[in-house]
Amino acid sequence: MKYDVIVVGGGPAGVGAALAAAENGAKTLLLERYGRLGGTAVQSLVGPFLGRADSIYKDKILAAVGGDTGDFQKMDLQLYDLLAGAGVEILLHAGVHHVIQEGNKVTGVVADLPDGPAEFHAAVIIDATGDGTVAFQAGVPFEIGRREDGLTQPMSVMFTVGEIVPEKRFFCGSEEMARMVKVNGRTWEEITLEARDQGRLPAMVGVVRLYRAVHPDQNIVNAAQINFRNGTSAADLTRAEIECRRQAWQILEFLRQSLPGYENARIACMPAAVGVRETRRFEGCARLEKADCLSGRVFEDAVVFDAAFGIDIHNPAGCGQAAGQDRFATGSAEQVHPYTIPYGTMVPREIDGLLFTGRCISASHEALASCRVMCIAMALGSAAGVAGAYAARHGVPLRAVPVKQLAGRLHANP
Ligand SMILES: Cc1cc2nc3c(=O)[nH]c(=O)nc-3n(C[C@H](O)[C@H](O)[C@H](O)COP(=O)(O)OP(=O)(O)OC[C@H]3O[C@@H](n4cnc5c(N)ncnc54)[C@H](O)[C@@H]3O)c2cc1C
Repeated sequence: MKYDVIVVGGGPAGVGAALAAAENGAKTLLLERYGRLGGTAVQSLVGPFLGRADSIYKDKILAAVGGDTGDFQKMDLQLYDLLAGAGVEILLHAGVHHVIQEGNKVTGVVADLPDGPAEFHAAVIIDATGDGTVAFQAGVPFEIGRREDGLTQPMSVMFTVGEIVPEKRFFCGSEEMARMVKVNGRTWEEITLEARDQGRLPAMVGVVRLYRAVHPDQNIVNAAQINFRNGTSAADLTRAEIECRRQAWQILEFLRQSLPGYENARIACMPAAVGVRETRRFEGCARLEKADCLSGRVFEDAVVFDAAFGIDIHNPAGCGQAAGQDRFATGSAEQVHPYTIPYGTMVPREIDGLLFTGRCISASHEALASCRVMCIAMALGSAAGVAGAYAARHGVPLRAVPVKQLAGRLHANP
């Protein structure tokens, strides 16, 4: 089973990588551990697709799922059809936990299939697992969390609330908005903080963010969270699943009591897995820093163009945005200037045959808080796919791919 490119992980970055690799002529296999494509969007009900990036493949993916507020119920099939139509072979229920290496080159992976372990070989492996499971197994050095204390952004269970009176549907997407939107003359921030102080909301909930869902009687709720846990530890993930799901039911009760039109609201959909915002960030040939995002830096070897999203750090030490270190901080995301991301953020320094993309690229904790959103993850993944296909076809090491020449295959608006 020999491929040009194997992509591990079928989230926004992995879908971008597989699509771009196949459309650039690579015999491509995608391995996904769960039963549905879409990654955090589908498994953890995370949406809408946020962030800006000038990317042909991001545009193709959004077109396939009907825009930036896709329907979780059918997005996995839309993505499957998109990839299958491009010639990608797809294997679901194929979790990868081992790599095959020859010296300092990764040459394949071992997937734990329900029918036993299976080896898959390729010229290029693209790790789009979010946690960087393949790069971890290959021994690529990594960091986790903030420089000062190693704490990461919290994990959350996002869920969908339904049976809301459509005309009364309420939205509040951020801490900033919570200080402006009002219910019965009081700001949403006042209402939620009071409920938390009275114990009617979980202690770690800052503001209950209510997003747009495709159905007019539904909201996506982003509020349940757990801090001080590591998203690569099974014990911590178990604790996160249980605690955040309990919080979700408490938040539902609060919504029923606090918002007109929500009296009969119900949980319409719970995610298959807790959402993990941040785990390993691998050491690459280049690293994206917060200053690059704030200044709108243009890198010589840029492969993602015109990327933009605020430095959106959900407080690692408490609730709310991490503007302060206060346990109950409710700050704001710092704004960026549209920036580029260099190819080197996906290329390990010592090992060949491997790229890591999406949520685990080489970036600081702060820079990742901007570029981790899904539209930018799609653009990152597709850049890895184009570079991987080139390396496989021309037999060159990944570090030697002439990415400047490939920019025309990535830009939607050169
Ligand atoms: C609670 C929460 C809210 C968020 N809100 C938003 C939002 O509103 N908008 C937005 O744009 N972004 C949001 N994000 C960020 C965004 O969802 C992620 O950063 C983004 O999905 C990262 O994309 P990815 O493809 O790198 O990883 P993922 O989406 O995590 O995809 C990784 C894929 O790899 C698979 N995988 C993992 N390990 C293996 C393995 N060993 N073998 C095979 N497959 C494997 C996983 O099952 C998954 O399908 C949020 C994140 C969280 C957690």
